[in-house]
Amino acid sequence: MEWEQSRESTNIEDRRGEGGGGFSIGGGGGGLGIGAILVILAIGYFTGIDPRLLIGGAEILTGAGHNSAYRPPAQTAQTESVSQNDPMRRFVAKVLAQTEDVWTKVLPEQKGVRYVAPKLVLYSGATRSGCGQAQAAMGPFYCPNDQKVYLDMSFFNDMRTKYGGGGDFAYAYVVAHEIGHHVQDQLGILAKVDEAKAQVSRTQANALSVRVELMADCLAGVWAYNANQEYRILDPGDVEKAIATAQAIGDDRLQTAARGYSVPDSFTHGSSAARQKWLQTGLNSGQIDSCNTFKQ
Ligand SMILES: [Zn+2]
Repeated sequence: MEWEQSRESTNIEDRRGEGGGGFSIGGGGGGLGIGAILVILAIGYFTGIDPRLLIGGAEILTGAGHNSAYRPPAQTAQTESVSQNDPMRRFVAKVLAQTEDVWTKVLPEQKGVRYVAPKLVLYSGATRSGCGQAQAAMGPFYCPNDQKVYLDMSFFNDMRTKYGGGGDFAYAYVVAHEIGHHVQDQLGILAKVDEAKAQVSRTQANALSVRVELMADCLAGVWAYNANQEYRILDPGDVEKAIATAQAIGDDRLQTAARGYSVPDSFTHGSSAARQKWLQTGLNSGQIDSCNTFKQ
């Protein structure tokens, strides 16, 4: 992925090294089995968006026999990463700038809605969010209450070392997926879905959550299409890597890894095949309207 030439966004709120005033569950990864780590990562990655989903994630963690390893917040080891100029921070700031450039143009053009860029909070371990305590183990998430994306960049390391993913474009896809939730928020979709979820069964509410997640995948694809038009960001193999990432974190894969079988009714983020399909849909069309995951 070509990203060096972009500007850096000024919408980064760097809270690394601050300490979050809470506990981090399994943040260090020490002593956890690979299965538990996979579950934490995969659940975390897509559950962070909605506090109710986080609760669901915690339930699954308990079910998987995961031992919570508590450690105090704000451990000293984090300070080394606080430099303004570290490469991953620059990368995230540049990808964020590309999402700003693309959505500032595309959202008014395609939907007649002005794009208000969200803040992206970098933190380490734990921090406060408008949706409750953010913890590294949750993975990246978007909080509609304060309209901020929360990212502990150790997630990228975990993707690479423990989760079979990695690569610039796969990381960019993670950021773009969260920004996709912000786009949904700007379009009023999150509020509508929340309202609908309050009136249906748990199973039906999960089905709605899946559609929200798949739409965010598709919107990440819309971003990538348009960013590529503008900046030629894509290198050969990038899309395949992002798709492999999307596939690796589908709920069916995740559940099968955790307990040996999958339970479609409990999917909240979509199967591997569905995630791949919707990311590809956005990537092919570049059109927000192609991402109507509620239609079918
Ligand atoms: Zn999501």
